[in-house]
Amino acid sequence: MDRVQNIENYLQQLFPICRSITGEGNRETLRILSELIPLKIGEYPSGQKVFDWIVPQEWNIQDAWIKNAQGEKIIDFKKTNLHVVSYSEPVCKKIKGVELAKHLHYLENYPQAIPYRTSYYKKDWGFCLSFADYKKFIDADEEYEVCIEAEFKNGGLTYGEWLIKGKKPQEILISTYICHPSLANDNLSGLVLTAFLADELSKKKCNYSYRFIWIPETIGAVAYLAHNETIMKKIAAGFVVTTAGGPGMMGYKQSWDADHYLNQIVAEVLSDEYGAGQYKIYPFDGHGSDERQYSSPGFRINTVSVTKDKYYDYPQYHTSQDDLNFVSAENIEQTLKIYLKVIDKIENREVYRRVEPHGEVMLSRHGLYPESGGAQIPGNMRMTELDVILKVLFVMDGSMSVTDMVYRLGIEEKLVSSVIHKLEKCGVIEKT
Ligand code: ZN
Repeated sequence: MDRVQNIENYLQQLFPICRSITGEGNRETLRILSELIPLKIGEYPSGQKVFDWIVPQEWNIQDAWIKNAQGEKIIDFKKTNLHVVSYSEPVCKKIKGVELAKHLHYLENYPQAIPYRTSYYKKDWGFCLSFADYKKFIDADEEYEVCIEAEFKNGGLTYGEWLIKGKKPQEILISTYICHPSLANDNLSGLVLTAFLADELSKKKCNYSYRFIWIPETIGAVAYLAHNETIMKKIAAGFVVTTAGGPGMMGYKQSWDADHYLNQIVAEVLSDEYGAGQYKIYPFDGHGSDERQYSSPGFRINTVSVTKDKYYDYPQYHTSQDDLNFVSAENIEQTLKIYLKVIDKIENREVYRRVEPHGEVMLSRHGLYPESGGAQIPGNMRMTELDVILKVLFVMDGSMSVTDMVYRLGIEEKLVSSVIHKLEKCGVIEKT
């Protein structure tokens, strides 16, 4: 079976499952992914304190509906799980339309779409429906019967994990979230792509080790960080895989440090693939996904998201119209290929460091100090080779490649390369 067809099969299987931040739907999702890759499924117990958060009770739902006075189901969870506000309390009662309306969510300016809503940390219940159905079915004076057959219990928060060991112990994080119910781009596309990416990397001989995790957004990332604090503080860089399968333009959300090499690499790959300016750039901001946790002051991991119709940025976002008509396996595969090219560049990146990083290098001892002044390099802002040597040696902190230094210093690549070559020959610097 070809890869696109295989991605399509997983999309079809996983789309209908009712996922949330905890519950059977998440276990089922990870179990299905474990047919493709040998991920380990783990649980963090309800009530456990993880940094400033507490793992909530587990929530499971069997059924939910609203019936009108004639006993006809006008809203049915079995048609789409988006009809119920995630983490709704159980309820079963007769209720007047005017009261019921306080528990209904719809989008007046997007009348055919059912919105996606959650109430994780405030005890409440609710239904979501299209504005068209709201107008058609809900009358303030009519009596309705509502039923949400759900339960809370002390259970667990389920996560999936797979560490693919490379030649180096240094790790790259690849994280995605599994807490959204039947929504295709956000984020079924991401969790499926992540599984296929893991499958591809497991077949290569990688230099870096790759830590793949499938967790519910926010609370899952916080809990994972709390349980793996030492490891996560040593992560070299990472990706938060999300919204990767829409029909729109490819783009990437930058990591918190815009100068970090990962941003340059992703931009290079996207430029090579689509041409300069033919992709979107989303500067880092405090909204978004689990980069909020990974980049928090205690961790400061640089993570990038490569997106094809990024969350917030398409009208179907968080509605029933973010479905399998909007997302395609071909689009997911296209984004998967971008991730593979980016990882290939990370794998082959040559990084330099100073043999003696303390203090300045004594240039004259290595024959690097000019015997006479005035030797400016033509056409380069009246810069001398000595200037380039000093600047290169100053920024060389053991994490930068030639491309990074070119970007950081704003000096032509051929000048930086020739200086690097000279410094390496003198034994002042070395490749790590
Ligand atoms: Zn979302």
